[in-house]
Amino acid sequence: MSYIRSSALFAQAEKVIPGGVNSPVRAFKAVGGTPIFIKEAKGAYLTDEDNNEYIDYINSWGPMILGHAYQPVVDAVVEKTKKGTSFGTPTEIETQIAELAVSMVPNIEMIRFVNSGTEACMSAVRLARGYTGKDKIIKFAGCYHGHSDSFLIQAGSGAVTFGSPNSPGVTQGTAKDTLLAVYNDIDNVKQIIEANKGEIACIIIEPVAGNMGCIPPKNNFLQQLRELCTANDILLIFDEVMTGFRLAKGGAQELFNVKADIVCFGKVIGGGLPVGAFAANNEIMHYLAPIGPVYQAGTLSGNPLAMAAGLAMLQELNKDGAIYNRLAEKTEYLHKGIAEVLNQNNITHTINRVGSMISVHFAEGEVLNFETSAKGNNDTFKKFFHGMLSQGVYIAPSAFETWFITDALTYADLDKTISAVAAVAKTL
Ligand code: PLP
Repeated sequence: MSYIRSSALFAQAEKVIPGGVNSPVRAFKAVGGTPIFIKEAKGAYLTDEDNNEYIDYINSWGPMILGHAYQPVVDAVVEKTKKGTSFGTPTEIETQIAELAVSMVPNIEMIRFVNSGTEACMSAVRLARGYTGKDKIIKFAGCYHGHSDSFLIQAGSGAVTFGSPNSPGVTQGTAKDTLLAVYNDIDNVKQIIEANKGEIACIIIEPVAGNMGCIPPKNNFLQQLRELCTANDILLIFDEVMTGFRLAKGGAQELFNVKADIVCFGKVIGGGLPVGAFAANNEIMHYLAPIGPVYQAGTLSGNPLAMAAGLAMLQELNKDGAIYNRLAEKTEYLHKGIAEVLNQNNITHTINRVGSMISVHFAEGEVLNFETSAKGNNDTFKKFFHGMLSQGVYIAPSAFETWFITDALTYADLDKTISAVAAVAKTL
């Protein structure tokens, strides 16, 4: 494959955009090489600026669950655009998408729209602090909730230590209120709560982790968190930015039958436009401005084009619950195919999968938290990534990401992907 135009565009971009990208993982730093510039996409395929085609497993990092340029979403946006792109006033479509989201997701009665997953999580935590009158939060090492200061806290070794910032610009003052816990380790969470009695406003978690590769909750972890939160007056926040409307109509709450107090959304809910949202019951949501004291706002929040894309997407997903079975079956097929060829080639690996989220960890044994995920062999991953790219399969350029399966993928595409893995496995 030739990447002449992508390389030239990257060189040009680097002069005016830090690192040539507007979000760091796109820069290929973790895998080496030059990022590929995409010019268009349709269904399960991307086309780059050099006219190379790829089967896409990134899918804009999650939103494109029905494939790229999905016609009802495109049509909805085009029609809305003709009527003006932003008014900064209430619009009917905001209520329509809110009603639909509330009807699809369990345990929520009101929803507020924002412009990104980061905003959703940041606002959810502020709301939890305002509602409980407490400052500290628990997050899990390896979980990503966007780039708001409170979440950019590196994994500490001790269970009950204060977090320390892992990005310059995050103050110690902020970091000290974020307590780090180990994913899938309920005793660790208990210890942290015990050591900070009466001080913790909320626990925020990716109910299926997707940002340390895919890691499912094990041994009723979510149920146990629910019980701990209820017993200690702590709000449980499910960050369903990845899992919302993806694992089921009602997301992880529905799939695992666990109630969260606040739920965050992003990605799928915007149909590929910049949208996030957070939701809860009436009592909690009444703490939000303008009816309550917790301030939160946005010039472009509820933007008509974004709402049109999101509404069209949710309407499609709401039509037919069968889509979730189809997605899970496709993911299982891929899982089995990849496992078979990696085993044939004696490549050490562990594959984690929930619904339409799947990751190949080049690690031995169970991968159930950040520590076990980080033990994966990054050199193997780099070779795998570039090998797959040269075979026309685009996976995320980092070992700490999930592959997203879309309904646009055919079984022929999945077979092509498995053949690509077979070819690449020989080179690892
Ligand atoms: N939460 C989760 C679970 C995510 O995966 C992400 C982004 O990948 C975010 C929050 C942040 O969303 P955004 O990038 O839209 O700000």
